[in-house]
Amino acid sequence: MCIELTEEERMIQKTARDFARKDIAAVVEESNRNGVFQDDIYRKLSELGFMGMTMPEEYGGVGFGNLCLVLALEEISRVCPSTAIAVSVHNSLTNHIIFRWGSGDLKKKYLPRMTSGEAIGVYALTEPNAGSDVAAVRMSAVRDGNEYVLNGSKILISTGDKAGVIIVIACTDPEKRTRHLTAFAVEPDFPGFSIGKIEHKMGMKASTTVELVFEDCRVPASNVIGKEGRGMQIALGSLDGGRIGIAAQSLGIAQTALDEAVLFARERQQFGKRIVDFQATRWKIADMATNIEAARLLVYRAARLRDAGRACSKEVSMAKLFASRIANEAVYDALQIHGGVGYTEEFKIERFFRDARVLEIYEGTSEIQRIVISKKILEEYEQMYLA
Ligand SMILES: Cc1cc2nc3c(=O)[nH]c(=O)nc-3n(C[C@H](O)[C@H](O)[C@H](O)COP(=O)(O)OP(=O)(O)OC[C@H]3O[C@@H](n4cnc5c(N)ncnc54)[C@H](O)[C@@H]3O)c2cc1C
Repeated sequence: MCIELTEEERMIQKTARDFARKDIAAVVEESNRNGVFQDDIYRKLSELGFMGMTMPEEYGGVGFGNLCLVLALEEISRVCPSTAIAVSVHNSLTNHIIFRWGSGDLKKKYLPRMTSGEAIGVYALTEPNAGSDVAAVRMSAVRDGNEYVLNGSKILISTGDKAGVIIVIACTDPEKRTRHLTAFAVEPDFPGFSIGKIEHKMGMKASTTVELVFEDCRVPASNVIGKEGRGMQIALGSLDGGRIGIAAQSLGIAQTALDEAVLFARERQQFGKRIVDFQATRWKIADMATNIEAARLLVYRAARLRDAGRACSKEVSMAKLFASRIANEAVYDALQIHGGVGYTEEFKIERFFRDARVLEIYEGTSEIQRIVISKKILEEYEQMYLA
């Protein structure tokens, strides 16, 4: 599998890099300090095609693959990991789910608004009692004529307060153990929908994280995605794309940690020497750089496999597990190289240190990635013994 970038991929990487370094960088400190979601940045990202990356032109997209999305997310995350959250969820979960499983009418109704950036896509799966255990989702959806009535709440939902379209996974048949979940496309002005608690988080502060409340929220039956009872399949089937997005975000964070560490270590002097000339510093730099290269190979390969239409859940989970771990190691070591000032808001590494922690939690914790990987590995051994 070739992971060399094509000319087109390099062009997308450069466009994202230039935009991040100029437009996002201009507002990044203020938006992270004050917890501001930058509508203007998303409007400009849409104009550049980044909100319809993998969608075909007939729905207003630019028709690129998952690797192009990875390259864009990596570059955005090098400057502002919070901004990458909405871009990742919007492209790899919401757009993808409506395109892959939605009816022709749903695609026509929502995708052009989403690729143009008019409607930001949000994904609402997590509930107070259903996180890693997707089957435990209990938000109820009861059919009533041509509508479903939704009751319950979703928690920890990224950009929920900015949503144009929300994919909601709800329970249509609590008696069943399988096929009990259904996916819906919900608009925020549907009656009975409201925003609940707004979370105050450790990091990723320029991305809002909120509770969504559904009180007799009426959703047209035509807004069911796929068929009733297919929600679990849709929720799990879309995770590969979402996890590649978080792995790309991890690459961006790790790369900035290395960049900032080298920059600082070349300037700072102690004991009459630049600290970059101490072997202890060089070993950290060598380990960070090697880990980033290894993670990049895993992430790009997973994206290429997905673009080739190959089953790749194991490779995606390996990429997310490894990239999120080395990103956390990189921010830890980069902050250590900064010494005391690295712990202050004066230096970028303080923000990246806080942002990195969630990489090992959302879109499936590291423990869940290990479950996916080990299950696939054991299946492969099973096949070998049978052969
Ligand atoms: C900033 C942020 C943004 C988010 N955005 C969204 C969003 O947009 N949409 C959305 O739906 N959700 C979102 N989430 C929720 C996120 O996806 C969940 O937090 C995550 O899936 C973990 O679920 P949980 O928090 O309920 O933890 P739990 O599932 O309760 O897990 C707690 C701990 O137990 C471990 N554990 C659980 N099961 C097992 C097992 N079988 N074996 C071993 N260990 C296990 C976990 O690994 C973890 O360490 C967001 C979360 C955060 C923090």
